[in-house]
Amino acid sequence: MITASPAARLLPTAPDWRELWRASITDAGELLRSVGLEHLAGRLPPADAGFALRVPRGFAARMRPGDASDPLLLQVLPQLAELEQAPGYLIDPVGDLAAREAQGLLHKYEGRALLIASGSCAVNCRYCFRRHFPYGEEMAAAGQWRKALEHLRQDASITELILSGGDPLSLATPKLEELSRGLAGIPHVTRLRIHTRLPVVLPERIDDAFLAWFAALPLQKVVVLHANHANEFDAAVDAACRRLREAGATVLNQSVLLKQINDDADTLVKLSERLFAAGVLPYYLHQLDRVQGAAHFEVDDARALALVEAMRGRLPGYLVPKLVREVGGDASKRPV
Ligand code: SF4
Repeated sequence: MITASPAARLLPTAPDWRELWRASITDAGELLRSVGLEHLAGRLPPADAGFALRVPRGFAARMRPGDASDPLLLQVLPQLAELEQAPGYLIDPVGDLAAREAQGLLHKYEGRALLIASGSCAVNCRYCFRRHFPYGEEMAAAGQWRKALEHLRQDASITELILSGGDPLSLATPKLEELSRGLAGIPHVTRLRIHTRLPVVLPERIDDAFLAWFAALPLQKVVVLHANHANEFDAAVDAACRRLREAGATVLNQSVLLKQINDDADTLVKLSERLFAAGVLPYYLHQLDRVQGAAHFEVDDARALALVEAMRGRLPGYLVPKLVREVGGDASKRPV
């Protein structure tokens, strides 16, 4: 029988990510109290404006106490502005439902298919383009993978599978193992790309069990993170990024350009530099998807272009992300 040495028994154990996730803040009043802004509770919209609040406590701890303009707080705090009906802002702004090929599988672009692997996220971002997406019907996780995998098997033009959601890393590792076993019999899929915000908002997710699964995958691996501001990074996020790279992943980042959060050149330059310090390359800077309830985050194209131009003057080319917009029905992301 193997027993832990006395020294090992004294080592602090890493907190379990699922427990940390369960302990997330889900009440807007509590979030405001946690950052010393309880006096703003009267400005909250009723019923979280129809999109539940969810924030891991570790992410909330990176917010500046007493600062109502904190860029992390503004990404997650429900606002009255979400109740305004802005013309041109839609329930499904990027045409996900039209691109559906099988339950939970979207086939928008040549050679790549996207699996809605999970309907859950560790954090609910107020600007999210899928805030109204019918996850209950489309989520592939609930035993629906078979149909999606069958579609992949029959279409040899698909060489890259993108796991998205929701957040695919909200799935327990045994679920991810189940998925990769299904992929094993599909030789034309050679690349796995994971779109996730979990290593940023809940870095404890990149634990030993996950890394053992991930490192052993016989596929090329790309992880596309989602961070919008340098303040989202701390030592735990750096460690998660390093562990992903050590497990064989190319790690990229995509951001969304968001009014009052990252729409100035200094903030964007700092974000690119902070990403690179963590070993992550900036990939895309997205113009906001026009989803109902998010109009107050929009930055117009002229300003977006000027910001990217300013970044170009201050950063090496590899740290300047591509400014793009997703347009439903297009064959790729559209450069702005
Ligand atoms: S993590 Fe991504 S999918 Fe989830 S709410 Fe945020 S932007 Fe949307």
